[in-house]
Amino acid sequence: MRASSAGSVHLVGAGPGDPGLITVRGARLLAEADAVFHDQLVGTGILEMVRPGADLVAVGHRAGMPRASVDAVVSAMATAHTAGARVVRLKGGDPFVFGRGAEEVEALLSLGIPVEVVPGISSAFAGPLAAGIPVTHRGLAASVMIVTGHRPGDQESVDWGRVGNASDTLVVLMGTARLGEIAEALIAAGRPSGTPAAVVASATLPTQRRLLSSLGEIAGLAAHEAPPPPAILVVGEVVRMARADASGPS
Ligand code: SAH
Repeated sequence: MRASSAGSVHLVGAGPGDPGLITVRGARLLAEADAVFHDQLVGTGILEMVRPGADLVAVGHRAGMPRASVDAVVSAMATAHTAGARVVRLKGGDPFVFGRGAEEVEALLSLGIPVEVVPGISSAFAGPLAAGIPVTHRGLAASVMIVTGHRPGDQESVDWGRVGNASDTLVVLMGTARLGEIAEALIAAGRPSGTPAAVVASATLPTQRRLLSSLGEIAGLAAHEAPPPPAILVVGEVVRMARADASGPS
């Protein structure tokens, strides 16, 4: 049996952090929401766009909920939906890029609850851009690959040997805790250790940091500078194009 059709559920990408980088549609849904379930990664600037009086619920492991608990989030959203609420599930970046968004959609659909997904600007693209790094560039990079550097409980899921030289530009999300291992694996896979590499932390936020180095040395630099998360790693010749005026302290 289908649940009540009075409520609605939208899975919305919040973009990389700057509140100006959510979609118009996402902003409108926040302004009309009755309940917003948001990841910890979603910053205060975005949350200020939520309709005053709406329920704001922080979910995810940093909110004390086990990260694996897609079911707990989904059942809370289902309850709100059944009560007739306009529910927004707000995720950092794009909901379908390493956000487990598709798992939540699947679980909601299996309960008979329709979901509309609203894309967001992923940190995988906005992060390099905010640091002045084009992910593709004629003559320098004709391909870009986005990989996870970490997957709880499934750390072998990325085949670094295969990733090594498979694309010109490589963007690694969730990898900064394992930068040294990742760089070593890429070098072992044939990427020269002199390949330009950058870490971009808190991209698009006032606290943005950019570290420019090489694959062989980026882990040491990041350990020394210790920019607070979240951060991405960018590897490839395009990192040479990082503009001097495009970042915070570098
Ligand atoms: N769905 C998100 C990614 C979720 S995984 C997206 O499309 O952006 C979380 C990872 O995203 C973090 O570990 C980090 O690698 C990256 N990330 C998210 N926001 C970021 C930001 N503002 N600056 C740098 N990296 C960010």
